[in-house]
Amino acid sequence: MLAVLLLAAPLSAGAEGPLPKPIHYKGGHDFTNPKTKRVVRDLPGTVVFVKEKEPPDAQAWRDVQLRPHNHYCPQYCMDVNNHVKGWKHGINVLGPGAPFKVANRFIWGQTGGAVYAILADGLTIGFGHLTQISARVHRAAQTGEELPAGTYLGSFTARIGVNDSPHMHLQAWKSADDAVKGRMNKLVLRSVWFPRLKAPGGEKPAPESTQGPRQASSRPSFPAQATLAEKLGFRTGPGLEAGFVIRGRNYLPVGTRLTLIESKPAFGAPGAFCKVQAAGKQGYIRCDKPSALRLSQ
Ligand SMILES: [Zn+2]
Repeated sequence: MLAVLLLAAPLSAGAEGPLPKPIHYKGGHDFTNPKTKRVVRDLPGTVVFVKEKEPPDAQAWRDVQLRPHNHYCPQYCMDVNNHVKGWKHGINVLGPGAPFKVANRFIWGQTGGAVYAILADGLTIGFGHLTQISARVHRAAQTGEELPAGTYLGSFTARIGVNDSPHMHLQAWKSADDAVKGRMNKLVLRSVWFPRLKAPGGEKPAPESTQGPRQASSRPSFPAQATLAEKLGFRTGPGLEAGFVIRGRNYLPVGTRLTLIESKPAFGAPGAFCKVQAAGKQGYIRCDKPSALRLSQ
């Protein structure tokens, strides 16, 4: 009797209430790699709801590097596992670097457990292959609450869906409706959505630029002279997928003097790259983080 009473007591409840019931993903359409003809099963699995495992980190995506996604929709999709360069959260999945809402749907065909993060303009990024989903995210889907940038979404602890090893699979759509209906003709190019994962840079001025003459330097007038305060990749094009200008010397070291020619989009904006002249060559560097550059007055 005592045992029954203990079980009945809301031990796991607390202020947030009990965890939602797990969802069973029953699997579905196996995937045949169009090139290799190899068949990967769509594995069934159980998606459980868990307490939030870590606080929001708006910078979670800041340093993550894109990798090829050649087995399926290479221009639209991305896989991230705990070995991807720049990913600092292991098997935990964190949301985009701007506040977002979530769709009230946690299953995605061929990926298993999923969270759909909806940004202010409707762009919706799906995070798939999750076996654990945050109860806080589930609650926000019911209430319509906006979650802080970089909120913990869930974890990939095991294979689920079409998946050779645990990881998260990302894709994005123009709207939440397109996302939950899986409309493949409404996918957004990853070159467009990937920068949206990164924290908005430049909107909040760096502490040292809030006063005095440095304020003027936070928005350069081009062309501008600058010195690197952080090492940055020196690339042949305005994107993290572009190759490097100087073979064997991918990064320009701290202290490198350069000329900023232009920035697209605006200097300090998410995903911004500057065309620059450095080491006698022309190329591109990231310009989404003003504190990485000391601008000459
Ligand atoms: Zn994938």
